[in-house]
Amino acid sequence: MNDSRGIVLSGTGGLWNVRTSSGETHEASLRGRLKQEGATLKLAAGDEVSFARGEASDAWTITEIHPRRSVLARRAPGKAHGERIVAANVDQVLVTFAAANPEPHLRMLDRFLVIAEGNDISARVVLNKVDLVGGSAGVDALAIDYERAGYAVHRTSVKQDVGLVELRAVLAGRTTALTGPSGVGKSSLVNALFPGLDLRTAEISASVNKGRHTTVGALLVPIPDAAGGFVVDTPGLREVGMWGLPSANLDRCFPEFRPFLGQCKFDDCSHDHEPTCALRSAVEARKVSAARYESYLKLRSELAEAEKSW
Ligand code: GDP
Ligand code: ZN
Repeated sequence: MNDSRGIVLSGTGGLWNVRTSSGETHEASLRGRLKQEGATLKLAAGDEVSFARGEASDAWTITEIHPRRSVLARRAPGKAHGERIVAANVDQVLVTFAAANPEPHLRMLDRFLVIAEGNDISARVVLNKVDLVGGSAGVDALAIDYERAGYAVHRTSVKQDVGLVELRAVLAGRTTALTGPSGVGKSSLVNALFPGLDLRTAEISASVNKGRHTTVGALLVPIPDAAGGFVVDTPGLREVGMWGLPSANLDRCFPEFRPFLGQCKFDDCSHDHEPTCALRSAVEARKVSAARYESYLKLRSELAEAEKSW
């Protein structure tokens, strides 16, 4: 037996691309016994595994899935095993928007941040294309609510080489889920940070290699840097959705709300209509951003609506 440890880059559900620390990639299937241990042992991109090649055959088999540091999951409500893991061992989520072209959609930004918080994964914000807005006042106005909430906000321009050195250091050596609407410059950014790292090409070659199979879930793209690390190309974090996040837990997914939680008149305060609500008072006193609070209300009503159909 030729035993190795590796990281799952992508898979079709049957065959998985596993990369060793020395950078070789092998196609491997999951050992039968592991398969039968139930839904909790479903493999995902980002999983650390042991895999081995049998003496008799050339086929690689995944023999063990190592404990996960984190999961980016889509939870099916009400079911203990109804969790679909989109990616495992993600260290951080990088939510990317453009300062202009396309105009930033802050409610969508809030939604991505809630998804990260709901999965207990730290998040950072990137505001790219700062070259398109004159001066820094406009960008600062966009950033302030997020910086107050405790998020790092990276102001970048691929075109004018702004903020790239700092962002590079944030990505190197870590596994980062890169998300945000199309057209904001995600591919341009990673290519400027790590020449040769091409998200689009990685996506295309992953699906071509599989022939008729298409990659399911996320795709890990190795960072060409001595420090290593991966960029996780999720098929739109939006698809991960917030499903399964109980509406009662949403308030905790806004970090700047936390100092005010537990101080409302009612323990189960929705911070919507109830009298004597500490969060609403904080919004009125401008200690909490009204825009973020509006996002909370909007997302909460969405979650509550979804709960009715469970
Ligand atoms: P993605 O869909 O998020 O991967 O976005 P792309 O990387 O494909 O970029 C979309 C468009 O924005 C392309 O035409 C890029 O040249 C342009 N772009 C990317 N970064 C910047 C930037 O910092 N400033 C400006 N002005 N344009 C940019
Ligand atoms: Zn309240």
